[in-house]
Amino acid sequence: MSYMEKFEIIVVGGGHAGTEAALAAARMGHRTLLLTHNLETLGQMSCNPSIGGIGKSHLVKEIDALGGAMGAAIDEAGIQFRILNSSKGPAVRATRAQADRVLYRQAIRRRLENQPNLWIMQQGVDDFIIEGERIAGVVTQLNIRFLAQAVVLTVGTFLAGLAHVGTRNFQAGRAGDPPAIRLAHRLREMKLPVGRLKTGTPPRLDGRSMDYTALLEQPGDTPLPVFSFMGRVSQHPRQLSCWITHTNNETHDIIRNGLDQSPLYTGLIEGIGPRYCPSIEDKVVRFANRESHSIFLEPEGLDTHEIYPNGISTSLPYDIQVKLIHSIKGLEKAHITRPGYAIEYDYFDPRKLKNSLETRAIEGLFFAGQINGTTGYEEAAVQGLLAGVNAGLKVQQRESWCPRRDEAYLGVLVDDLITRGVTEPYRMFTSRAEYRLQLREDNADLRLTELGRNLGLVDDVRWEAFTTKQAAIRCEQERLNTVRISPHTLSEDAAIRVLGKTIEREYTLHDLLRRPDVTYASLMSLPGAGNAVLDIQIAEQVEVQAKYEGYIQRQQEEIRRQAHYEATLLPQTIDYREVRGLSNEVQQKLNEHKPETIGQAGRISGITPAAISLLLVHLKRGF
Ligand code: FAD
Repeated sequence: MSYMEKFEIIVVGGGHAGTEAALAAARMGHRTLLLTHNLETLGQMSCNPSIGGIGKSHLVKEIDALGGAMGAAIDEAGIQFRILNSSKGPAVRATRAQADRVLYRQAIRRRLENQPNLWIMQQGVDDFIIEGERIAGVVTQLNIRFLAQAVVLTVGTFLAGLAHVGTRNFQAGRAGDPPAIRLAHRLREMKLPVGRLKTGTPPRLDGRSMDYTALLEQPGDTPLPVFSFMGRVSQHPRQLSCWITHTNNETHDIIRNGLDQSPLYTGLIEGIGPRYCPSIEDKVVRFANRESHSIFLEPEGLDTHEIYPNGISTSLPYDIQVKLIHSIKGLEKAHITRPGYAIEYDYFDPRKLKNSLETRAIEGLFFAGQINGTTGYEEAAVQGLLAGVNAGLKVQQRESWCPRRDEAYLGVLVDDLITRGVTEPYRMFTSRAEYRLQLREDNADLRLTELGRNLGLVDDVRWEAFTTKQAAIRCEQERLNTVRISPHTLSEDAAIRVLGKTIEREYTLHDLLRRPDVTYASLMSLPGAGNAVLDIQIAEQVEVQAKYEGYIQRQQEEIRRQAHYEATLLPQTIDYREVRGLSNEVQQKLNEHKPETIGQAGRISGITPAAISLLLVHLKRGF
């Protein structure tokens, strides 16, 4: 008889999805066990040492707004911070930070070790315990049996992982880590729909062998941004610059001449890679007319010389990797510390998940992260948090939770995955959100923290800070609505300096702030404007909300119009072959996807507005 122990929730995998899942379940008060291959790799960044960027930073802020770890951890580990798209509108502005890998892992592990209700243990999971159609626990490599009411599986790129360098390949979860072979077999036996995807990483370089005089320096932003709504600039460690160089025609010739030894181009890799994060081989082939591609040379940490050359992920043979690196300006003598490689792994069709990330096939079994066909730490972490929450709600026998598409990027991501599935690794972009004007990174807390508090995810300290901030925003908005600026008291000089012209009637400060060229700071320099709020977050909210008031109101009206239709439930028992007028193709698609709402059905590719009308008629008839 093997050893057996009971928990409420088990999370398998200590990557970005697993750590957020375990923290969320434990924050909700559940006795949670996190099982992972190696405690030293908790929160490990498998690829690029950075967090955030366009679309992704929105996810990090949402995780933070719900009390998660990623935003706070990168504030403690970030060695360069920038705001991308700073000259564009607030909807597409994005924070990005370069991370010290070691500091990041430490920040995550500290949170895990200090989280009440959470136990962590180094053990590979090989099998599940299933009773009927319900999960009952897991079995580890030492045949230890852990029982639980819910299991969250977050095993990343490890399922039947196969790494490729040139024509050589070897089994691995990622370089230096073993794959999960037995678990992959077990999952395949369970007849869950499985596919293969691939992703790649560049060779790493020794910074001491690079010629920095030939590179363009890229410092971080001043003032320094922060990620977490609770974060402070003083938490950031020492800051470093990144550096920029480019590939050239010689680099491209080396790559073209090596394609006959590329696992991507010789058919050795069957998995599909991320179109938006292509390997340098792909870029050279697909954009044959381009004479160069940018490479961002990013430090891997404060106490290492290792550099991550962002933009040249490759699985070409090692000798070709050396040649291509040496053809690049500033890297002529660069020493490779780790070869680049590609990895292929099993993923599961996310269309077989509910929007809680619970599998439809096995009650209580949740999937989150790369296993669902996504790529990226942020996409994984936010799914982990959602799966952890829903595992908690399952144990409490409460209804599951998932934000709507108009509430959060998390809602967009999950809805895209479960209604459309993936044909390549899915990453987040702002363009995926139809309501992006209201899904900004700056207001993620205003959108989600109260929901997080109700779910038991947000502690008293964050809640207190949030409600104080909310009150301060309201108070300043009321003040701006009442303070009036009159043409009699406003000098011509001040009017032209701040407003660009004189005013002919009285305006409230709020009215003036809505003008395109007026910022909160410039408004506050008007005589009679009173005292400005000092907190940048509050000033930013007041300004953004005033400027976009009209657009946001229109967007909210549109959301209200859609809401009824969006939330109309489709019983899971419907046999779509019985819905009159639907084409065979539509019937087949709906039977395969089994959408939970009319809104979801409408987003499945090939489901037309006419088909939706037929469905509505069918529902009205009581089918
Ligand atoms: P992971 O971070 O992979 O974590 C999985 C965890 O599960 C690990 O801790 C592992 O030890 C554990 N585990 C696995 N099996 C078991 C088991 N049976 N029992 C117990 N524990 C287990 N993302 C990008 O955005 N851009 C890129 O360019 C990019 N390139 C990549 C290149 C490579 C080579 C790799 C490996 C990944 C790359 N990624 C990239 C993806 C990024 O690393 C993942 O999206 C992210 O780490 C996924 O998080 P996760 O939590 O789902 O899984």
